[in-house]
Amino acid sequence: MSTPPVRDHVNREMNFINGARTAGGGEDFDVLDPATGRVVSRYRLASTHDVDTAVASARQAFGSWGRTTPAERSELVGALAAALAARAEEFAEVETSQTGKPLKLSTGFDVAGTVDNAAFFAGAARVLEGSAAGEYSPDHTSMIRREPIGVIGSIAPWNYPLQMAGWKILPAVAAGNTIVLKPAEITPLTAVLLAEAAAEVGFPDGVVNVVTGTGAEAGDALTGHPDVDMVSFTGSTAVGRRVMANCANRAARVHLELGGKAPFVVFDDADIEAAAHGAVAGSLINTGQDCTAATRAYVHISRIEEFVEAVSELFSHIVLGDPRDPGTDLGPLSSARHRDHVAGFVHRAQQSGGTVHAGGKLPGGVFADGFWQLPTLITGLSQQAEAVQQEMFGPVLVVLPFTEDDEGIRLANDSPFGLAASAWTSDVHRALRASREIAAGTVWINDHIPIFSEMPHGGYGASGFGKDMSTYALHEYTQVKHVAMDLTGTARKPWHRTVFALPETGR
Ligand code: NAD
Repeated sequence: MSTPPVRDHVNREMNFINGARTAGGGEDFDVLDPATGRVVSRYRLASTHDVDTAVASARQAFGSWGRTTPAERSELVGALAAALAARAEEFAEVETSQTGKPLKLSTGFDVAGTVDNAAFFAGAARVLEGSAAGEYSPDHTSMIRREPIGVIGSIAPWNYPLQMAGWKILPAVAAGNTIVLKPAEITPLTAVLLAEAAAEVGFPDGVVNVVTGTGAEAGDALTGHPDVDMVSFTGSTAVGRRVMANCANRAARVHLELGGKAPFVVFDDADIEAAAHGAVAGSLINTGQDCTAATRAYVHISRIEEFVEAVSELFSHIVLGDPRDPGTDLGPLSSARHRDHVAGFVHRAQQSGGTVHAGGKLPGGVFADGFWQLPTLITGLSQQAEAVQQEMFGPVLVVLPFTEDDEGIRLANDSPFGLAASAWTSDVHRALRASREIAAGTVWINDHIPIFSEMPHGGYGASGFGKDMSTYALHEYTQVKHVAMDLTGTARKPWHRTVFALPETGR
């Protein structure tokens, strides 16, 4: 398997501050191609000083960016969508080089999704709405202003580096905020390219900044920064809790998109062929490193054998290979550490009595130097097993049986997470009941994974709060101000009587 030669434009400084690339003040760090383990890019990590500089630049830019009109912001976000579309191939290649995801996924999902998101927020920037101005007392006119919050500090994970950068940057700047984004240190390339593209289409210096450093240093400095007005974090629940505590110290707003452990509930009347195809695509997308990936299939006991057979058969045809080859279905995991994390779960599941029907081991040969894991299907585990309860974030599907509808729903809800879920049935009443009863931010019926720029994405419970995408995200990045104006022009207002009496009348 080949790693293409390091490209000049990705082997550079990984901060983008005040309209220019800069080198970090920290140590050297290597971005690896997870398919081969080879170095794709070397850069210097951001220091806390770099974070300070980026926040100061965002603060300075907010003064004028916060006063631009929606039309002005819309035009620039639209221009960014067009620039990204024009450079789609380049962005997809760079995304694949740092993540190992198949080029067909980078092209068809990551880049295409980000272009669509940018096009959506270009339009949404112009439709911020609020309540009607009016007289809610006879003596006042009230109106609502929806205003940007200020400087946003955002932290993104490594699984969808470009999409996550887009989900953070686009609604924030469309609503009139400025931003400092910290991508995951192992996958900074497309976030920096996106910030650079924003500058090229005319975003003023300091509106979009990127600092690439570790979570412990740059991430902690950014989320704890006294001049950051709101923190938007996507990542694991454990780190999300730390970020929230950091924000609590100064009562800063926080938006958390955290982990998931999506259930996939197959009722006895489901189309098993559709459910099996859905389970394969839904569990293997991005090598299972998707916070909404199907991870726990609960299948009616009368259909479980059929389901396991169909999924195992489809898993056996999944092609691992060079991510740039159009025939490749599945890429590697993101790092050696993450591969070991997933392999550990699979090993312990086998040791505790789980039956592996497909996969279960690491592929050798040309795959030995990269961070690969075969698609894996496991049955025979209890609901309490760690592989059922904890986020694994790999190409692993666990299948468990249920007998009554209520039991299937109860097992689906038996998790601290609540990001996404799906229900498979041909009965419309069951579908509606499942969509009401499953506690998750997204419930798909007879599908699993599709997302739309117009619709919100966000969790329940330990999956966090706040929404990405859609006008809900735009609202997240605004604050509401009530302006109340006196209509009477009098010095003595009737309500003053509740506070003080006039000396001459006693009233
Ligand atoms: P992670 O929590 O380890 O890291 C996420 C980001 O946080 C990285 O940029 C990291 O450098 C940074 N970070 C780490 N420690 C920090 C600290 N103390 N202060 C500030 N920032 C810090 O998560 P990950 O392993 O990169 O990503 C996988 C996780 O992200 C999974 O749990 C997955 O479910 C979640 N995720 C959620 C969504 C969603 O929309 N809910 C989307 C994608 C990924």
